[in-house]
Parts: sequence; C-alpha cells; structure tokens
Amino acid sequence: KADYPDSQALLQKRRQVLGPNTAINYSDPVQMVRGEGAHLYDAEGNEYLDCVNNVAHVGHCHPKVASAVSQQMFTLNTNVRYLHQNVVKHAVALVATMPQPLEVVYMVCSGSEANDLALRIARSSTSAEATHVAVMDGAYHGHTQTLIDMSPYKFNGPGGAGRKPHVHVLPCPDVYRGLHLDGRAAARQAIDEAHAAGAKICAFFCESVLSCGGQVVLPEGYLQAVYEEMHAEGAVCVADEVQCGFGRVGSHFWGFETQHVVPDIVTLGKPIGNGFPMGAVVLQRRLAANFDNGMEYFNTCGGCTAAGAAGLAVLEVLREERLQQNALTVGRHLEAEFRQLQQEFPDIIGHVRGLGFMLGLEIIASRESQLHAPVTARWIKDTMRQRRVLLSCDGLRANIVKFKPPMCFSRQDADRLVHELTQVLRGGIPADVRAVDQAPAPAAICAPVSHVATAPPPALAVKTAA
Ligand code: PMP
Repeated sequence: KADYPDSQALLQKRRQVLGPNTAINYSDPVQMVRGEGAHLYDAEGNEYLDCVNNVAHVGHCHPKVASAVSQQMFTLNTNVRYLHQNVVKHAVALVATMPQPLEVVYMVCSGSEANDLALRIARSSTSAEATHVAVMDGAYHGHTQTLIDMSPYKFNGPGGAGRKPHVHVLPCPDVYRGLHLDGRAAARQAIDEAHAAGAKICAFFCESVLSCGGQVVLPEGYLQAVYEEMHAEGAVCVADEVQCGFGRVGSHFWGFETQHVVPDIVTLGKPIGNGFPMGAVVLQRRLAANFDNGMEYFNTCGGCTAAGAAGLAVLEVLREERLQQNALTVGRHLEAEFRQLQQEFPDIIGHVRGLGFMLGLEIIASRESQLHAPVTARWIKDTMRQRRVLLSCDGLRANIVKFKPPMCFSRQDADRLVHELTQVLRGGIPADVRAVDQAPAPAAICAPVSHVATAPPPALAVKTAA
C-alpha cells in the first residue's frame, strides 16, 4: 500500500492553509488517490463508483488524454503568441461540432473565464444602455464577482448579497408541478423590468439543461421563445454548455441542439480538457468582429500548446469510443430503471428527469404534498457514499439527487447504482430525516458545500459542489 498521509491530519493541514470556505465534499471528506474510468480509489484502497463527475468527461485519467498532455509538456508548452498547430486544430475541431454560424473561438482557462469573456463580447455588440443581464433562477455561471452577481445559486445562498438591480431572473420551469413553463412570458417580464429601470438587456445566459437548477429539462420550445424575445430586445443569447455539453445529453453533441436554437455565443469548460484547466468561447463572426475594437485579446494559458493537445485528445476519445451513443443508451436504460424505482417509492421520488447522462431524481416529502425533501435527498446521498457510490444533491431547494457521470459509465455501472439505490430505499429512511422534510423548506435555498466541520442544521438544505 502506498504511503499516503493520514486523512485527519491532511484535513487539518488543509484547513490551516487553504481558504476556510474552499469547497470540500462531505463532513468527513474522503482522500482520493487514484482514478480510472468511472471509478475512484481512496487512500485505504476502497473503490467508488463516480456518478457525478463531468470534468473527467471521457473517464478519470484517460490514458490517451494523459499521454497527449504529458508528451506535449515534455516538448513545448507556450502561449498563443507563437504559431502552433495545436490551438488551430483544436479550434477547427470544436467549430466542426457546432452549427453555422458559430465559427470563431477564443480560448480561456475555465468556465468562469468563458462566461466572463462572453459578457464582455455581448457588451461590445449591444447598445450603451444595454447594461442589464437575464439569467435563469438557480443558475451558476462562475466565480468572478461579475458572475457571482449573475448566479442566483450563489447570490441567493449563504453569504450571497441578493439580486443586484441589473440582473433579471427568469423563474425555473417546474414541469413536475406545472409551474413557469412559458418561456416567452418569463422573457417578457425580465425585459419589461429592465425597461422600467430605464435600461435594456445586453445578454441572456442560460444552460441548455439547467444543472445547478436541478437537472431541469426545459419545456419544448422554451429557449426558442426566450431567444426570440431576447433577440427582439437586441440582446445576445449565450448558451452555457459547461456542464451539459460534449455529448452528455446523448441525443445531440450540444445541449442547445435539443432546444432547436442556435446561440450567439457558446461557453465551454469542465469536460473540454478532461481535467486540464481550460475553456473556450465559440461565437458568431459578427460578434467577434465587434469585439475586435483594437484591444488585443491575450490569455497567458488560454489556448496553450498543452491545452490544445488535451482538447484534441478529448474529442478523439469521444468519437473513437462512441461515448455520446453510450450516454444515450446507458442513460435511457438508467432513466427507465429510475422510473421503476419511482413506481416502488412514489412518496420519495416525485419526478425522474433528464437527458442522456444528465439525470435527476426529485426527492419529495410525499406524493400528496409534493413538498421538496432536501434532508431526505442529502441522507440518500450520504448513505450511498457509505456504499461507495458517489452522487450529489442540487436544485433550487437542494432536493434533486443528481447523476452526471463520466461518459464511459457502463451498463454494469448503471446496474450497480440502481441496485445500491434500491437497497438504500428498501432499507427505509429514518423517521427523523423524513420528519424534517414534512415542514415546508424555506424558499430558494442555495446552500454552500459542506466545508463546515459541523453538520449544518437539518432544516438547511446543503448542496455539494457545482
Ligand atoms: N457554468 C456552469 C454551468 C458551471 O457548472 C460552472 C462550474 N461549476 C461554471 C460555469 C464555472 O466553471 P469553472 O469552475 O471552470 O470556472
């Protein structure tokens, strides 16, 4: 057995040296030391099934990606100011996956950088009074100050400063309860609010499947209607594909394609480099032309030689291993199994939803009340972890058990997940856990990751990392 530090000592050291609110999973965190495919291994040699990692998109430590990056690091890693084929090939390969006229790429280092740059680009293409933005409720778009202000997931949560006047929030569609399904009405309201404040909307940011919002599949035609209204307003429509992109939805390569829209800008992150820190903004040439006002765009590591190697390898593996198809077939199988479980436990699982490898189980207090049950959801997540199956909780009320695994997640992995979940639910949920959920939870809760040493109060829903 390799010589790993004692987990408690490591945790203590980490608490001393890292910022105190740095995200960590679980109140007794696990020391992971190795990953392979959809599996993680802790310092004691225990194996876990990873059902929530969309960063290790083509599988943890995929040998093709790892060797492409390391070989490049041994050869040359430099910025885009020198000519090199990697960044060009990668940009060409990304554009080839997009519909026309999305044909120009800016390389960045993270999803946050991608969204921040997208906003700058949108501003350069809209009028001076277009200083407001529109986002979906429950959305998270990144960690910069600008993006925290555009992320209800954060600004409505603990430590959040609430909504700023320049940000307009479209309510999250709730198909299960039949609420907020009309995209056009939601868009109109946001636009009217901006006009009432004497401003206009510059950009509408939206994930194509709402991940932090709780694995929400938008109603048919929703984005089309919002885009029409936003375009009539002169606003730029940005599709944040940081979580749902790169084949995850199974039926399509990009989430926005399921809504039959073509965004003005698409932002990419997490999966793009399988863990190599990188991101990209893909946009229409007319927007790129407006952004090119004489100020040079430079990003020290964005589009670096090693990033190009990683990005190209990811796209190759996706194609070679037919991982989008895998997300479709295994995802459909899993969804059907989840629906079976819902039949067996209709007072716990209120709604099964999602696309491909982006699925969610809405956990409720009872089928009559349809009350959100965040404490039960967290209990399920924690109990599954004891069985070495890693899931997370998310959504406006943190009551969605979330599934978004590496794309190589197999049918066998799916069956193991379903078997363990069935055992957990058949074992019964403790009465005290259920009791807390019988009382209505406070309105929108966007709680922090469980970095705190003590367990949060049971009535407070807690999410894991985005
Ligand atoms: N957009 C979405 C939808 C995300 O989930 C995230 C990260 N959780 C981001 C943007 C920000 O990406 P990053 O953490 O790479 O800055």
